[in-house]
Amino acid sequence: MLELLTEKFSKSISRLKGARKLTEKQVNDVLRDIRMALLEADVDYDVVKAFLKRVRERVLTEDIKNNLSPVDSIILTVYEELTNILGGEKSDIKKGTVLFVGLQGTGKTTTIGKLAHFLKNQGFKVAVSSSDVRRPAAMLQLKKLAEKVGVPYYGFDEVSSKDIAINAKHKAQSEGIDYLLLDTAGRLHIDEDLMQELKQIKEAVRPSEILYVADSMQGQEALRVAKVFHESVTLTGVILTKMDGDARGGLALSVKEAIGVPIKFVGVGEKIEDLEVFYPDRVAQRILGLGDLQSLLEKAQQVIPEDEAQVLATRIMMGEFDLEDMLKQIRFIKQMGPLEKLLGMIPGIGAQLKNVKIDEKKFKKTEAIILSMTKEERKNPRIINMSRKVRIAKGSGTSVGDVNKVLKEYEEMRRIIKSMKGMKGLPTLPKFPFRF
Ligand code: GDP
Ligand code: MG
Repeated sequence: MLELLTEKFSKSISRLKGARKLTEKQVNDVLRDIRMALLEADVDYDVVKAFLKRVRERVLTEDIKNNLSPVDSIILTVYEELTNILGGEKSDIKKGTVLFVGLQGTGKTTTIGKLAHFLKNQGFKVAVSSSDVRRPAAMLQLKKLAEKVGVPYYGFDEVSSKDIAINAKHKAQSEGIDYLLLDTAGRLHIDEDLMQELKQIKEAVRPSEILYVADSMQGQEALRVAKVFHESVTLTGVILTKMDGDARGGLALSVKEAIGVPIKFVGVGEKIEDLEVFYPDRVAQRILGLGDLQSLLEKAQQVIPEDEAQVLATRIMMGEFDLEDMLKQIRFIKQMGPLEKLLGMIPGIGAQLKNVKIDEKKFKKTEAIILSMTKEERKNPRIINMSRKVRIAKGSGTSVGDVNKVLKEYEEMRRIIKSMKGMKGLPTLPKFPFRF
């Protein structure tokens, strides 16, 4: 369903391939193409606007990312923002009573069968029940699905949907069920009765999740309906069905941004196995053309041990940069490239770094000098007086002049970092895979 979007994206981006520098016009052209592609894919208008605004801002203000070309850098920005509007992280389903809501025919009952199968395969104890008292056929449909999957179906003779829900919950609790999947009645259109019924069930069973089942073929209409459900019962997640059809994918790209609720699964067929976990990053990759992006991501990840890098970055942002940090930097740089580039990855600092040039050939010397210092000296370079300098120079096989140079470079870097600290609002660190 995302083929068309993928095609448009790659076509637009391929026009930039090979360009070493991008003009503002080129950037604008690409963003215009992306805008068209998203709108054609039926993505919500406000979502498109917000998305492009963020991409534009980042492209114009952030420095070129580690060892990437300007074009690749844009692609990665688009990728990150796409992942964001798709929901960021994949989200799980909380154990307890899971309520399925949505209009009739969207795929609620089928999806319950699929999810029961999915969760059972993961080793959970699952049971299903239906509060769709108006349509006995709908209950029978679920009962049959339950038999097929091999999970218990809880049926009761009560007339009210609320009582069914309560009984089913008690039974699930007494049988040690991890997930009770509860089907609810649908309607062809939103109506007040239905909303009241759902509210009552919600009150009565306090569900762990309320999942809205949306037919992706219905596009923006489904989004409008989702908003109404969300206002009534507060949804915790969305499942998009019929993604195997020729839906343009706009709904997938709109849901999180428009109603703030993540997509948890997608239905990709009528069979019991046709359910996929929704991974925002993978979908974004698919949209941008997986092959290209994988190698790009790998390139961008060939940096440094992530944890240490993150600690260092945080310290720099806090303005606590000492010679120990400088030493770490030097070691990182050996693995990854010039210091300017490393610091350039902190948005906003790149431009200020023009005057700081650290000769890479001097790394060894600098490293030796810092290593000849005591821990105390590295933490607090101010205490390094003349006699200490002489000792350090001796220990590292350098001169006092060399020691002075290192201290001067350090001071210069610290000054810049301090000036950054004074900036309004610390710049946010680039997200993985770019944080260092
Ligand atoms: P409900 O009224 O919301 O419970 O909808 P149903 O579960 O009865 O599904 C309505 C129709 O949609 C059925 O024919 C299903 O087989 C079909 N359906 C549900 N999910 C999918 C899906 O992911 N892909 C396709 N192709 N059909 C689906
Ligand atoms: Mg149904």
